[in-house]
Amino acid sequence: MSKVLIIGAGGVGHVVAHKCAQAPEVFSEIMLASRTKSKCDAIAASVKERTGRTIQTAALDADNVAETVALIRKFQPKLVLNVALPYQDLALMDACLETGVDYLDTANYEPLDEAKFEYKWQWAYQDRFKEKGLMALLGSGFDPGVTNVYCAYAQKHLFDEIHELDIIDCNAGDHGQPFATNFNPEINIREITQRGRYWERGEWVETDPLSWRMSYDFPEGIGPKDCYLMYHEELESLVQNIRGLKRARFWMTFSQNYLNHLKVLENIGMTSIEPVDYKGQKIVPLQFLKAVLPEPGSLGPLTKGRTCIGCVMKGVKDGKERKAYIYNICSHEEAYREVGSQAISYTTGVPAMIGAMMMLTGKWRGAGVFNMEQLDPDPFMEKLNIHGLPWVVVDL
Ligand code: NDP
Repeated sequence: MSKVLIIGAGGVGHVVAHKCAQAPEVFSEIMLASRTKSKCDAIAASVKERTGRTIQTAALDADNVAETVALIRKFQPKLVLNVALPYQDLALMDACLETGVDYLDTANYEPLDEAKFEYKWQWAYQDRFKEKGLMALLGSGFDPGVTNVYCAYAQKHLFDEIHELDIIDCNAGDHGQPFATNFNPEINIREITQRGRYWERGEWVETDPLSWRMSYDFPEGIGPKDCYLMYHEELESLVQNIRGLKRARFWMTFSQNYLNHLKVLENIGMTSIEPVDYKGQKIVPLQFLKAVLPEPGSLGPLTKGRTCIGCVMKGVKDGKERKAYIYNICSHEEAYREVGSQAISYTTGVPAMIGAMMMLTGKWRGAGVFNMEQLDPDPFMEKLNIHGLPWVVVDL
């Protein structure tokens, strides 16, 4: 029985609040705090309607450490579950250290003025969390998150050594909009427009953005889709923690329509994060673009189809070559029926709740800063099946 403070009332925060409310035996009291309190209140009303539970809400600027410290002292949670934006990670970790509370997030820290995904800023908190006996769990979404746990599970049960890893993220859903992103547009476009990067024989190899393509035939009737090589943050920790890895890559599916829109927006400078002067005011084009694009949360009732995210791994078991695929398929419509969100928010929010559950029930404990694959995958994998993200293992 523990109190949890959820920070961020966006698409993912909506799912996390509902899923935590569905598990009162672990999350005895819930507070949802975010920049705009009315968004917290709307989520709280939906939680009340769907689960009968009352959750508290508060306005919070999570960039302001003193404000977060004051809220933590007032509510006294055991865990801060950060589903605001990556920009807030360090400020929230500072607030947790100051108040002696555990921390969890779903995306690694990024400086606002540079699209750079690296764990170095958060790994630098290792000693401070350790000294205080506190735990910080990084990247407890789907990718990063479940994909890391799949690798840990494969390392524990399926392979003696994993040599090749391809993480493949497929959204085979359609929201019917000319152009929209399924999670925060600013974070999403910063990620997609950066240079690609994969790991081979101990080195990072760079590629031009979205310049490498493969077709993958997805299971259970989804069929073949074009996938593009991208850099994704979980690669950084996985290449350190998975034994014997010789190559690790990340792929994501995009429709030609999405890529055409993105290209035009890039060509005219709308995806830039360099401020421009507009009538005496500094405006960041990408932030302005975010303001005119559909809110990811609004795509819930519109999105049809399924996601399929998983890991294809090649390696050895008992002296023989083995190739295995672990994946989850999630339906946008079923996610919407259950919690009122599309599957991208759902597949991120459910693992965030399970990560919190692992920490609060003591299944995952430790002092310091952890990536998901460093912890025992079994209890997490068990909860995925129970809480809406069942997984499948197939030998290829
Ligand atoms: P949204 O933009 O929908 O929500 C972000 C929320 O954070 C908004 O409610 C926003 O407030 C709030 N927020 C922003 N800045 C502050 C601040 N300074 N103080 C308090 N609250 C703030 O994003 P998503 O829900 O789509 O994504 C949430 C997180 O999940 C992101 O970090 C994203 O990278 C991550 N993610 C991880 C995935 C994974 O698989 N690991 C997949 C998808 C997302 P306001 O409403 O006022 O703007």
